[in-house]
Amino acid sequence: MNVEKYYIETYGCQMNKADSELIAGMLEGFSCRSVDSPEEADIILVNTCTVRENAEKRAISRLSQFKGLKKKNPDLILGLLGCVAQRNRGKIISEKSFIDIVLGPDSYRHLPEIFNGCKFPLLDVKLSRAEVYEGIIPYRRNKINAWISIMRGCDKFCSYCIVPYTRGRERSRSLKSIIDEVKKAIDDGYREVTLLGQNVNSYKYNNYRFPDLLDAVSGVQSVQRVRFISPHPKDIDNKMLELMRDRQNICNHIHLPLQAGSSRVLKSMNRVYNQREYLSVAEKIHGYLSDVAITTDIIVGFPGEMEEDFLETLKVMDKVVFDSAFMFKYSPRPGTKAALMKDGMSEEEKADRLTRVIEKQREHTLIRNNALVGSVQEVLIEDLSKKDPKEKMGRTVTNKIVIIKEGETEIGDLVKVKIEKALGVSLFGKIV
Ligand code: SF4
Repeated sequence: MNVEKYYIETYGCQMNKADSELIAGMLEGFSCRSVDSPEEADIILVNTCTVRENAEKRAISRLSQFKGLKKKNPDLILGLLGCVAQRNRGKIISEKSFIDIVLGPDSYRHLPEIFNGCKFPLLDVKLSRAEVYEGIIPYRRNKINAWISIMRGCDKFCSYCIVPYTRGRERSRSLKSIIDEVKKAIDDGYREVTLLGQNVNSYKYNNYRFPDLLDAVSGVQSVQRVRFISPHPKDIDNKMLELMRDRQNICNHIHLPLQAGSSRVLKSMNRVYNQREYLSVAEKIHGYLSDVAITTDIIVGFPGEMEEDFLETLKVMDKVVFDSAFMFKYSPRPGTKAALMKDGMSEEEKADRLTRVIEKQREHTLIRNNALVGSVQEVLIEDLSKKDPKEKMGRTVTNKIVIIKEGETEIGDLVKVKIEKALGVSLFGKIV
């Protein structure tokens, strides 16, 4: 059986997107080429995520749609990868016999077996304490920003989160292999690298901690921008902030997941910080970095969240004035501690709280963005604008989207842009 063309669909978080690039890297190593439509492919892989409920449902239903393609091409291989595969283990193969491959996030090294006439189904969902995919070069389609996975798994065990169960315990790549990958990305023409981990600032390899890694990466010649996502508030330390202050090429943006404002709810979430500690971290960040953007994640309607707890979330938002936020209604993930907690709140109440945080965040985003009107920002041009291909889209160091209406520029350029307007989550400006 010749497997020459692959098609990957990815659901969920940036970690999953980075994993798809690893998987693509493995397949490309066997001269298998990426195609843009599933109809052309010899192998279709759906890389899934269980962090949000919808992503899981979408992934399974998508694979069921691909089942029809097997009628035309009986040799077509269908694979389910990632967290959903991990969580549902062999059950998927027994219930959906048209799926040939089920591999969990630590089992992708089995994939090349398809080129050696392996037997189907190919199933492995064991979690590893060591797998970090050292030595595999990701195949990236985006040519501006290289996402570099520096660690896998998580040891924090937030009570609502499935990640420690589907992606396993925390482990980090060697500093050398990360630096080698950064150097290669820069040689390949990337302008920006983003260090990626479920808990990026828990990085720990021998005696190296996250600030050591940040120091080494930002010191690589010709790296113009370094980002990282997502840090845990508990692990933000002074050395990291000092480096961000002193190194021009480390972007002035910190994603600082809040999740909830009430200390009581934070305790029930096992977030290992309370409201006071969170606010003092935010204050410290502003103390070190004057023009920093702080973004966040917020969950509303966690089991037991009373109106007064929810008001604490709004209070923290008012104090920090986040630049932007990802906001969600709580939904239980089976297998987590929170899924066993009494969830008495109606969907209407959760929806109402979500509307209120979204409204507040809209105001705050506008306050933060309006403060930049009239200023000149350095913008990395990433793409054409989706609304109007005559315009370009780029990002500031603070990770804000800027639409550029006037001025000559190419994708990949770093340009100075005068900000003229703030609208929604975007800024608008012209090159100066
Ligand atoms: S820190 Fe908490 S929310 Fe983030 S991946 Fe780990 S367990 Fe999940």
